[in-house]
Amino acid sequence: MRHVAVIGSGPAGYYSAEALQKLYGADVMIDVIDRMPVPYGLIRFGVAPDHQSIKAVAKRYEKVALSDNVRFVGNVTIGKDISIDELLGLYDAVILATGAPLDRPAGIEGEDLPGVVGSAAFVGWYNGHPDFSELAPRLDGKAAAVIGNGNVALDVARILSKTREEFAGSDIVGHALDALQVSTISDIYVLGRRGPHQIAMTPKELGELAHLSNAAPEVEAGDFPPELDDALLEPGQRKSVTILREFPAVDPAGKAKTIHFDFFAKPLRIEGDGRVERLIVEKTMLDEQGRAAGTGETYEIPCDLVVTCIGYRTPPIEGVPYEPDQGRFANDEGRIAPGLYCVGWARRGPSGTIGTNRPDGIGVAELIAEDLEAIVGRKEGRPGLDRLLAARGVDIVTFRDWQKIEAAEAARARDGSPREKFTAIAEMLAQAGISGTR
Ligand code: NAP
Repeated sequence: MRHVAVIGSGPAGYYSAEALQKLYGADVMIDVIDRMPVPYGLIRFGVAPDHQSIKAVAKRYEKVALSDNVRFVGNVTIGKDISIDELLGLYDAVILATGAPLDRPAGIEGEDLPGVVGSAAFVGWYNGHPDFSELAPRLDGKAAAVIGNGNVALDVARILSKTREEFAGSDIVGHALDALQVSTISDIYVLGRRGPHQIAMTPKELGELAHLSNAAPEVEAGDFPPELDDALLEPGQRKSVTILREFPAVDPAGKAKTIHFDFFAKPLRIEGDGRVERLIVEKTMLDEQGRAAGTGETYEIPCDLVVTCIGYRTPPIEGVPYEPDQGRFANDEGRIAPGLYCVGWARRGPSGTIGTNRPDGIGVAELIAEDLEAIVGRKEGRPGLDRLLAARGVDIVTFRDWQKIEAAEAARARDGSPREKFTAIAEMLAQAGISGTR
């Protein structure tokens, strides 16, 4: 019998568990450990609440979670409740599938002013992440600046723009829905430090901005290269750029909000007296390597909220080699040290789609198969973990416990919404019948 611990129950974690099951059948026991009492990581806390079809992939993970040789072990924090060395002593292989839930800093002056939030925090707030449910972002001003030209920037701009009715069928948490309904933000500036050809936005997500009931996108014709140059782009990117070019056809009449695309706009610093009041931006041009080069020309965007959407980092774990510049674990194609592996965003950084994690999971399972054949059968696995956690008074949340939380969230959902999430760990534990007093 092989014993494997997967740390993190998001897409990378469950695709790895699924791949190990396919490889070993009943000959492997897998514990999927998560800090949260609820599973699915990015699917629950990252994917936008109005993109329910993307969240449907959780059904596939549920099937894995409910199989005999896979167990969800929620409410267990690595580094606090148990160390990596202890896990390596108990399991033949430990896979870090911890994602990238931390914001990458912008590294500009004024970043710490009240009113500046990272996308991990902002997205966590509207998705009910317990770490960010108290964020209360400033929505009582006139303008917001969203820094970055990726899909997260699009999510943030769209969420700031939608009406209450447009959130029907979503699982946006009640506190965010109520706050957004009374938001006075009418101008949302989406800043790219490079141009339309360099965006990291996919067509479906970009296209949604053309169909908002109370907001219209706005682009400057002068920011675009000649249309003929679009032929040089790969097809997906070409589609995105075509959508951008068509934004001027969206009629802004009767729409109270504008989503302004500012290209070639590099944030220099954030200014304000005790809170964000303006963002100072430098105009850029592309250098020969296609990077953003400052032109020295600056302008300011008066704003009350700044959301940085410029990428994420994996949280470091004591004793595990880490690449701070990349924000991921130091690894060789997924191998970190004997018995220790990483997968998904923890391995390669925050890129790709949810589906990219599937081949990643298969890859790490194959590495484990290559490495483990000689040494399997000596580790204690699951009973050892249970004994250690019980001795430390750690109440684990099982998948059946999660199903109680899930049922309670469904029972209290708004009309048409799949769930109203609990946003505090104590509330989640209470639904699972755990007092959570440790
Ligand atoms: P991303 O796609 O890597 O985009 C990050 C953006 O931030 C880029 O435009 C980048 O510009 C910019 N940036 C980085 N550092 C900057 C700085 N210091 N100043 C100004 N701009 C800076 O990251 P993401 O949007 O966080 O998305 C993460 C991953 O999740 C992506 O793979 C994304 O596609 C995926 N995702 C998918 C969906 C969906 O499919 N619906 C939704 C959300 C996220 P440069 O290009 O110039 O570096």
